[in-house]
Amino acid sequence: MSRDHRSKKGFRHSKSLGQNFLQDISIVQEIVEGSQVDRDTLVIEIGPGQGVLTAELAEAAGRVMAVELDDRLIPELRARFIAYNNVEIIHQDILECDVAALVARGREEYGLTKARVIGNLPYYITTPIITKLITGRLPIESVTAMMQKEVAERLMAGPGTSKCGAITYQVQYYTEVSKICDAGKEAFYPVPKVDSAVLRMDIRREPPVQVRDEKAFFRCVKAGFALRRKTLLNSLSAAEGMEKEEIRRVLEKAGISPERRAESLSMEEFARLADSMEEVRV
Ligand code: SAM
Repeated sequence: MSRDHRSKKGFRHSKSLGQNFLQDISIVQEIVEGSQVDRDTLVIEIGPGQGVLTAELAEAAGRVMAVELDDRLIPELRARFIAYNNVEIIHQDILECDVAALVARGREEYGLTKARVIGNLPYYITTPIITKLITGRLPIESVTAMMQKEVAERLMAGPGTSKCGAITYQVQYYTEVSKICDAGKEAFYPVPKVDSAVLRMDIRREPPVQVRDEKAFFRCVKAGFALRRKTLLNSLSAAEGMEKEEIRRVLEKAGISPERRAESLSMEEFARLADSMEEVRV
């Protein structure tokens, strides 16, 4: 198979920009319904592509600001939505985009009281996009994202399961995650190699656990998963460059067995561990 695909209109899909366009309209509708969009909502769409989701979002939302990086798509998108008075196409990299400024403009110019970010993500930057949106303390209600199925499973995984990783704790610390739907490969053109799923991540107003220092908490989670297959004792001492005896004391103080693995810890246990690590460090 060649690396490039052309649509009927002759558009050459860019693999490096993650351009697999959604064809299945029932999935588009599920995304709009599952995202809880209404007329008071500003939607910031990530990567509108040829506008399949944008069009449905425009029917439900107060306004759609669609951020697309590929300059080849901009004229086509602007032409498609010329007759809509609630769609604007923004030619920008979502990772560079000042989302808070868009939300402020939605409120000031259009009186929109809520903002939600929605997108069929370009998969090559799934993690940076989600991290930017959920950790940035942005004035948004939720992030709905289509992503690779295995990534979705990781973000939804409960502690104690082999599917969870450091990102699970990060996403669940900042958001409450729920699944909107699955999307098989055949729902896209060109057909990708992987299946997908759509998650809605509702931004929490309060974190699910109290930690002394958020940075230290996430550093501890990362260190716990540094040697995935190893015990906490080994992983933490390798990642933090600390003596095993010292780590043993940290774990004992937190009431956690050194033989356990990171993936078995609850959010509360990681919070205790991070706090006890900070106390030992002082
Ligand atoms: N929303 C369309 C759909 O559902 O068919 C397209 C989804 S496609 C998986 C991802 C889109 O994101 C493409 O249009 C791609 O050009 C765009 N994109 C890639 N990188 C981007 C970035 N850094 N910022 C904004 N858009 C980007």
